Amino acid sequence: MEISLKDRDKVGVQDAVLLEDFNSSEVFVNNLQKRFNENLIYTNIGPVLVSVNPYKDVGIYSSQYAKEFHKKHFFETTPHIFALTDTAYRSLIEENREQCILISGESGAGKTEASKKVLQYIAEVTGSKGQVEKVKNKLFQSNPVLEAFGNAKTSRNDNSSRFGKYMDVEFDYEGNPVGGNILNYLLEKSRVINQFNGERNFHIFYQLLAGASDTMLNDLLLKRNLESYYYLSHSQKGTCNKEKSAFEELNKALTIIEFTAEEQIDIFKIIASILHLGNIGFVEEEGIASVNNNESIDAVCKLLNCDKEELKNALTHKTIDAKGDVVTSPLDRETAIYARDALAKAIYDKLFTWLVQKINSSLQANTQRKNSVIGILDIYGFEIFQKNNFEQLCINFCNEKLQQLFIDLTLKQEQQEYLKEGIEWHNIDYFDNKIICDLFEMKFKGIISIMDEECLVPGNTNDLTLLKKLNKNLQGHKHFKGFNKMLKKQMKFENNEFQVIHYAGPVVYSVKTFIEKNNDLLFRDLRYAMSNSQHSIIKNIFPKSEVMSMRLPETAFTKFKKSVNDLMKILIDKEPNYIRCIKPNDDKRPSFFDVDIVSHQVTYLGLMENLRVRRAGFAYRRSYESFLKRYKCLCKQTWPHWHGNAKDGVQQLICSLGFENDEYKMGKTKIFIRYPKSLFQTEDAFQR
Ligand code: ATP
Ligand code: MG
Repeated sequence: MEISLKDRDKVGVQDAVLLEDFNSSEVFVNNLQKRFNENLIYTNIGPVLVSVNPYKDVGIYSSQYAKEFHKKHFFETTPHIFALTDTAYRSLIEENREQCILISGESGAGKTEASKKVLQYIAEVTGSKGQVEKVKNKLFQSNPVLEAFGNAKTSRNDNSSRFGKYMDVEFDYEGNPVGGNILNYLLEKSRVINQFNGERNFHIFYQLLAGASDTMLNDLLLKRNLESYYYLSHSQKGTCNKEKSAFEELNKALTIIEFTAEEQIDIFKIIASILHLGNIGFVEEEGIASVNNNESIDAVCKLLNCDKEELKNALTHKTIDAKGDVVTSPLDRETAIYARDALAKAIYDKLFTWLVQKINSSLQANTQRKNSVIGILDIYGFEIFQKNNFEQLCINFCNEKLQQLFIDLTLKQEQQEYLKEGIEWHNIDYFDNKIICDLFEMKFKGIISIMDEECLVPGNTNDLTLLKKLNKNLQGHKHFKGFNKMLKKQMKFENNEFQVIHYAGPVVYSVKTFIEKNNDLLFRDLRYAMSNSQHSIIKNIFPKSEVMSMRLPETAFTKFKKSVNDLMKILIDKEPNYIRCIKPNDDKRPSFFDVDIVSHQVTYLGLMENLRVRRAGFAYRRSYESFLKRYKCLCKQTWPHWHGNAKDGVQQLICSLGFENDEYKMGKTKIFIRYPKSLFQTEDAFQR
């Protein structure tokens, strides 16, 4: 499996630290391309694994293949997701260090597939006794459930995850999986009510309509055709056979994860009720809306077990409690539609979180046996589109935090390794993006606080007053640019836009709908109506206590910020393993490598920054044994056999190769080489 060095020109180098020019992204991308053309989709940057989506089966994930990795310690030579997982698993078992595997990349780059390969590897190399097998099975089966409810076809990926996911796999003292826990982030709930051209709603809606028996459909008061439902009528049509078998798979998975038959029915009742909810129309008379068809609202009330008059009223009225003065006013048609859609989104979003919690209780390990965990993070990468909105601001904030963590952890890890190996530590130079995280998080003056203030302060605030406030408070910040005439000319700014200079590059955001999305309002009347429902899940996800609470609900961004910060706390104590996923083209095409598209991602994934941080210290390091094995033929004293210990052999080798003293350091178990330049010469010598 090892590639001969003679092939280096053809297949590139397997670790980018071996590239002669560290600073050129062109050279870096070219190396990826060479490898991609040879079906070598993985490349390392030190310990970071870069993966380029092949969009075809490259035949490297068989169970046999995985076992070979485990047996033979191939990780020393071949970049592969199994190698990375093996390293993580070994550190966990042998050194008892908790691990996390952080997978990033843009939509369609292969994050979710990668997370499944990580699980597959863990499953392959661990035990298969009763309880362990059961846990593994549940861990695997959580995927079809989460994908049915959380994934959808988008223009970029037919199976796009529309939520972020962090999953802990818990191990016992013997290194066998005994449980798990999943955290979910920011489901794109707007997809429930609206989809872009060529895109679809969440898979579950189509799976239910295609896969449910006639009796079940009848019970859910549904018809089989998509056109009957407003929330599906604009979406692209799907293939029925695939949907049908996916529905079967989903039902099996739900059963394995121990959802009872009643719970399964109750879940589908909610899905059906959302479709009916979308079909409720309104008429308006003198500015006052009323429900115009009884059939749909009857269906919703029957399925959700709630009172028809109450729901009707709640959909067309708004009650405000202003310091004890309770005032109810009727809604116009437009606001009633807004309220209806907000309800559909809220129900779906809460159902999703409820599902995750149920999965977690089924995955819960027997606490006595739980010893340590490997966490797997599959989360949206940095996003930059033509038009960037509230969602992109959230996602990119999360990526700033992950970059900050990367810096913290990588440096910490480097420091620890130097210490362990007995090598003196020198501070290294890199761009610290803390200043950008602060731009978001600063108390009172950060983007998030300003946005909250504009949302929570009653009065005449809107998206443009928010922008004004951002401009006023943040003008002059090195990483923020508000609208001004000069910029408008330079950057084709609109007057509702601002720019954040992220670590990965500048992004222009439009403030349109910021206030609405950050407020994330569901009128109290609707929350109240839901909390009165007798449906077992609905009354659970709309608890009375929340409706009655007088406290202002947290805004969407603040909630997200808190969950991201909680995630950082979980990750900071773990040893990180990075997988950076790249898609080779925008057309889901196999064997096609678009240099421009890849170059963009190399920038946004911060890969050149990864390389720089790695380079700033000792860029290259290897255990004495494997270094000697690879290069021993270059020195008379070590070839063909070295009879002393490996460290002395390497010292001998290094001296005979003429390395200067400051070019390398000898640690306890590894040799560290500052600039691999010396190594190229070594490798070149190899080729002669
Ligand atoms: P999103 O952010 O939209 O969820 P993602 O990064 O999770 O995207 P995936 O769903 O993992 O992307 O991958 C998209 C598609 O690419 C897969 O459905 C599969 O067809 C293909 N793919 C990804 N990784 C591989 C791989 N290692 N080998 C072969 N095909 C792959
Ligand atoms: Mg995904």
